[in-house]
Amino acid sequence: MVEKSSWIRLPRNVVVGHGVLGRTGEAVAELHLGGAPLIVTSPTPKSIVGDRVEAALSELGEPPETVVVEEASFEEITRVVESARRIEPGYLVGVGGGKAIDIAKMAAADRDLGFVSIPTVASHDGIVSGRGSVPDGDTRHSVAADPPLAVVADTEVIADAPWRLTTAGCADIISNYTAVRDWELAYRLQNVEYSEYAAALSRMTAEMLVENADSIRRGLEESAWVVVKALVSSGVAMSIAGSSRPASGAEHLFSHQLDRLAPGAALHGHQVGVGSIVTSYLQGGERGDWREIRDALESIGAPTTAAGLGVDDETVIEALTTAHTIRNRYTILGDGIDADAAREATTVTGVL
Ligand SMILES: [Zn+2]
Repeated sequence: MVEKSSWIRLPRNVVVGHGVLGRTGEAVAELHLGGAPLIVTSPTPKSIVGDRVEAALSELGEPPETVVVEEASFEEITRVVESARRIEPGYLVGVGGGKAIDIAKMAAADRDLGFVSIPTVASHDGIVSGRGSVPDGDTRHSVAADPPLAVVADTEVIADAPWRLTTAGCADIISNYTAVRDWELAYRLQNVEYSEYAAALSRMTAEMLVENADSIRRGLEESAWVVVKALVSSGVAMSIAGSSRPASGAEHLFSHQLDRLAPGAALHGHQVGVGSIVTSYLQGGERGDWREIRDALESIGAPTTAAGLGVDDETVIEALTTAHTIRNRYTILGDGIDADAAREATTVTGVL
């Protein structure tokens, strides 16, 4: 018999709903964490929910300290790690969007502390996963840490966030289709570790989101529900897999490469959405499901073209032809695709 073992780490409390920010104290108290919290947030979420989170956490005993971060960078992580070293908090709390939460999680991993995730936007699946990466010069600084101990996602707050952030979260989920297919391919060709449960959960999450695309509309709090629940299941799929494979394939490599070539041009979720259209074409050719992916993105109002991302044609081609170099992750891109293939795939799918 083959000896096997696996260790799945999941968030302990996931609290989602209207007004649940008021239950932050309760959700954290149940974790029996010692020490004071260190809150990591950025200016906008601080002004929207900062006081409420601080008040809720203060009720637990030791008053929290807050660090405000401006950008997702290696320098900012270092600054938060330094604060944590000085303050010696019991745990970290990320409050905000991807930026604040990613930095909180990476600093928590560095200091070997737990962290709590309080997303105020639903713009990508990092809000419920232990995985994060930020640009670090010409490379990326990544962690594969534990997922948050608790997630408190107030749909009233999230529904109020700029709509494009929500459509970015949706697009990040829709990209699970191509991520799972790349994972299967890598399993067949390279024997990478694979979990059928995780793959099925990730694919089903994308399917459910697409089936509910009608209820994903600006101004509907229901949209925040649908997206947050999808982000949570996607995070669980990554926890079961023990890797980001269920939610990250060639479309994510493409997006990371765009981050380097055209920093700040578009949101992560929007980039992977467009990447997913092209990846689907590369995986299945003309008969692939790239049209379904494009239509789903279109119906929720996420970009489906390079112009929609604010990126020029040549940058897209360069990102596609160099995406395989960004990390050692086998995908449909294999050892790289040539410029003609990239041009063909992006032209047929209408991305260019
Ligand atoms: Zn993503």
